[in-house]
Amino acid sequence: MALVVFLILAVLDFVQNTLEMIEKLHCVVQQLRHQLSHKMTQLLQDLVETLEQNGVAREVLLSVASQQWCFWVSAFGAGALLLLLWLCWRTRKRSHKPESSCQQGSPERQDEDEEAEDDDDDDDYGGIGDLAGCVADRIWLPAPYMADKCRLVEDLVEELLSSCRRLSGKTFKPRLQPAIMMGYVYEGWSAREDNVLYQLLVPLQPPPGHAFLLETDTAKDLLTSESCLRVQLQCMCKREQLLRDRLCFLHHSEDELKCQGPSLLNTLCTNSYLDIEKTTCWFQMLVKDAWKLIPLSHHCQLTVLPTTRSCKLSVWKGQENLSIQMTFGVSLDDSESFLSLD
Ligand SMILES: [Zn+2]
Repeated sequence: MALVVFLILAVLDFVQNTLEMIEKLHCVVQQLRHQLSHKMTQLLQDLVETLEQNGVAREVLLSVASQQWCFWVSAFGAGALLLLLWLCWRTRKRSHKPESSCQQGSPERQDEDEEAEDDDDDDDYGGIGDLAGCVADRIWLPAPYMADKCRLVEDLVEELLSSCRRLSGKTFKPRLQPAIMMGYVYEGWSAREDNVLYQLLVPLQPPPGHAFLLETDTAKDLLTSESCLRVQLQCMCKREQLLRDRLCFLHHSEDELKCQGPSLLNTLCTNSYLDIEKTTCWFQMLVKDAWKLIPLSHHCQLTVLPTTRSCKLSVWKGQENLSIQMTFGVSLDDSESFLSLD
C-alpha cells in the first residue's frame, strides 16, 4: 500500500514539473513573439518613411526639371521669333536694293557691287542673310558645259604633248602617251567655274632599249602608289641592224655610245628606279619649251606652277583661266589599267 502511494505521489510530482516547464516555455515564446512584432512594426515604419521621402524628392526634381524645361523652351522660342523678325526685316530691306547681291559676274556687276558697298557698309558680307545668299549664288551643280570644257582641255593637253614628243623624240626619256582625263575637282571651298582643276593621267612608256618593271611594296606585297618603277636596259641589237638609228646600250662600249644621248638610267633615275621628282622637273621644262611651238601660245599665257610630283599648269586667255594637273602613270601588264605615280 505504501509503495502504491509513493508511486502516485511521484507521478503527480512529475506532472507538476512538466506543467511548470511548459508554462515557462510559453512565456519565452510569448516574449519572442512580442519582440518580433515590435521589430516588424519598426521596419514597416522605416520603409514607409523612406518611400515618402523618395516621393517628395521625386516631386521636387520633377518640379525643378519642368521649370528648367519651360525656361529653355521659352528662351528658344523667343530667340527663334527674334531671328525670324530680323530676317524678314533684312529681306524687305534687300528687296529694295537688288544690286547689293554678292553674286560675282560681269565687271559691270562687280562695279555695281562696289558702289552698293560704298553706299551702305551695313550691307557687307557679314550677315547671315548675306552668307546664305552667297552660298546659294556660289554653289551649283556642274553644268553641261563642263563636258565641253573637258574636251577643250583634252585637246589642249594633246597638242602640248605632241609638241613635247617632237622635242624629246631623239632622246632616251620616257615616251609620253595620250593623256587620260581623270576628272575635275573644285579648288577652294566654292564651286565656281574658275576654281576647277582638271586632272589628267599621262601614261609613260619606256624609251627604246629600256624596260619598266613595277616592283610591289615588299612589306605588303601589294601594288600601290608606293611601288617603285625599276628601269632596266634591254638589248636592241636587232633594231640597230634594221633601223640603224640607235646603238645597243648593252653591247657597245662607252666610247661608241658617246655619239648618242645618255640612257634613262643616267638621267632621270636614282639607283635604277625612275625618280618621279626628276621626271617632273624634266617634264616641266619640256612643257615650257613645247608651249612656245604651238599656235595657242600666241593667244594664251602659260604658267607652270611649282610642284614636285605632278605637273600643274595654269593657262590664261584674258580673264579666263584653265587649271590643269598632269600626273604620270604606267600601264599594268598590258591591261587598260594604269598605276598613278604621284
Ligand atoms: Zn644588244
